[in-house]
Amino acid sequence: MKKQCYPFRLFKLPYAFNALEPNIDALTMELHHDRHLKAYTDKLNAALKPFPELHNWSLERLLCNINSLPVKLRNDIRNNGGGVYNHIYYFSCMSPDGGGSPGGSFAQKIDICYGDWNSFKKKFKEYALEVFGSGYLWLVTDRRGHLKILCSANQDSPITRGFCPIMTIDVWEHAYYLKHYNDRASYIDNWFNVLNIEFAEENYCCSIN
Ligand code: MN
Repeated sequence: MKKQCYPFRLFKLPYAFNALEPNIDALTMELHHDRHLKAYTDKLNAALKPFPELHNWSLERLLCNINSLPVKLRNDIRNNGGGVYNHIYYFSCMSPDGGGSPGGSFAQKIDICYGDWNSFKKKFKEYALEVFGSGYLWLVTDRRGHLKILCSANQDSPITRGFCPIMTIDVWEHAYYLKHYNDRASYIDNWFNVLNIEFAEENYCCSIN
């Protein structure tokens, strides 16, 4: 992900709102990006405004060092900074050219850890169905380069806990309710149809090098 600093600009979607149809509908994408992500971006900038000494810090640096930030800023970075980071990650994980299965070293690692891509998908879906309330499900690497499926609550970001994200699905209801209603399982299947495998492969390679 491209690093930026204050003032954070609203992330530009790399595809049109309707580009993921019929898997993810255009209105959901528009509201998710133009309302939800915009609100997190605006609130993050407002919270950082009184702290000029942090204006050259990247979002990653802020999220990885929450406990050394001024106390009154910590919740804003966790919630709004995490909201910006996690949504950019989630939107980047989808592509109109997505779907399929991985190759290269990422595919090898998936096979070693989960058997094969289909078994991984099955496990990832099981965990994504179990996320209670508002959160995300992630595939990450830990500090030793091992793959882990990890759930995060609210807008907590796994980089705060030292993990390196590979891919994520937002399972807050606003990500799917207009089209899928309460049927999270079909949303997860549809999300896999548009999963940007190349983005995940790149993230995996960066995380182990
Ligand atoms: Mn969301």
